[in-house]
Amino acid sequence: MNNRFTSMLSGLLFASLSFNAATAHAQSDNFSTQQLAQVEQIKQQALQSDLAWNLVESLTTEVGPRMPGTPGDKAAVAWAVAKFKAMGFDKVWTEPATFPKWIRYSESAAIVSPSPQPLHITALGNSISTPKAGIQAQVIEFQTLAELENAPEDAAKGKIVFINYRMNRDRDGNGYGPAVQARSRGAVVAAQKGAIGYVMRSVSTAYHRFAHTGGSHYKDGVTKIVTSAISNADADQLHRLVALGKPVTININVQAKSMGEGTSYNVIAEFTGTEFPEQHVLIGGHLDSWDLGTGALDDGAGVAITMAAAKLSVSKGQPKRSIRVVLFAAEEFGLWGAKAYVKANKNSLRNIVAAAESDFGADKIWAFDSNVHTRSLSLVSDIAAMLKSLDVEYLAKNSARGGPDLIPFRPFNIPAFGLSQDGTDYFDYHHTADDTLDKIDPEKLRQNVATYAVFTFMAANAKTRIMGK
Ligand SMILES: [Zn+2]
Repeated sequence: MNNRFTSMLSGLLFASLSFNAATAHAQSDNFSTQQLAQVEQIKQQALQSDLAWNLVESLTTEVGPRMPGTPGDKAAVAWAVAKFKAMGFDKVWTEPATFPKWIRYSESAAIVSPSPQPLHITALGNSISTPKAGIQAQVIEFQTLAELENAPEDAAKGKIVFINYRMNRDRDGNGYGPAVQARSRGAVVAAQKGAIGYVMRSVSTAYHRFAHTGGSHYKDGVTKIVTSAISNADADQLHRLVALGKPVTININVQAKSMGEGTSYNVIAEFTGTEFPEQHVLIGGHLDSWDLGTGALDDGAGVAITMAAAKLSVSKGQPKRSIRVVLFAAEEFGLWGAKAYVKANKNSLRNIVAAAESDFGADKIWAFDSNVHTRSLSLVSDIAAMLKSLDVEYLAKNSARGGPDLIPFRPFNIPAFGLSQDGTDYFDYHHTADDTLDKIDPEKLRQNVATYAVFTFMAANAKTRIMGK
């Protein structure tokens, strides 16, 4: 429990005092005094709302895992449409997105010699199957993908390549980028060096025995070999055995299948603006998840936070500009929903006045930043001022990138925003069977909703629109 929130929620007197103080001092060229008072009311309302919790509980319990193209994915689309309608959004619609469909059936692995024991393994997305009995070969260990790349032509001939790179833990998740290279294309490089199989230390900061899955790719003209990840504890064990100097043989058995082109849907909902209906704030998350857990942190939380924030941000009435929530399809397989959205909405992207995606778990938002035209910076700093009491720091670098689903939007210079969550613990659970609802702290979830609701209300109702660079 967080002391700040406890004090906020316990004393009505405290809440009304801080509210008066905020309105008395607030002055802005971009917002009326009445609007700033409304922002404060929406913030307080969000800090006491269970809406996001109820949504993520419902999604992870009643739908569960939502891997693109599975019955769970289909159920999630129906769930989102029904929830948006029940929440009173003015418009609710879906837009199709296609992607290469892949299904996991089973996976197992073991050290065969010199010290027989099971390994906790998961196939990486897109992996081919092994023969029914699995593959068995000697392990050759590398510490990094670069070390493998620099190894001689046939360094791994007939062997199973093991990359033992451990990602670092940090609030902003900077360890993910360097680590994910070995997941994305490790099997390609291993095959180029003659390997018959590929296994890596999970892209993970954890000290538990869950393996982390994630997307991977093959390359035309390079032999496809099985691609997989073992838990950090198992990677430690394998490393210790290899270090003893005797040959280490392991078995990997993965049964999975590529199923051709699949189709899913971006689910989109809008509160229509009264003055500039075509202009819109775009917030959202991705509706799909990996299949191992229930996708609570990735990205049930982001779905729930942005749905709830949109709803709370219209509690004082219809917005001036539209507020659009987009729940992207098939993010985990390669941003397929986001790519389809940009293609289908190419002509209206210039009407986006602010965009942000929540896709980094459910811990507190600690930083706020923009990526907008300098003309709009005073408006941005007004928003930042209203986020201060939520413990959100204004970075003022004006180089925010938004979440992964906003990557395909970048060439269009939309005004993007970063509402950065604390990712210190995120990669303990990311893409594992342990990504479940109990990892979400309801208090922290409310702080996320309050931050998004303040941001959304202010971007939608400001006197002038926010412009991109
Ligand atoms: Zn995600």
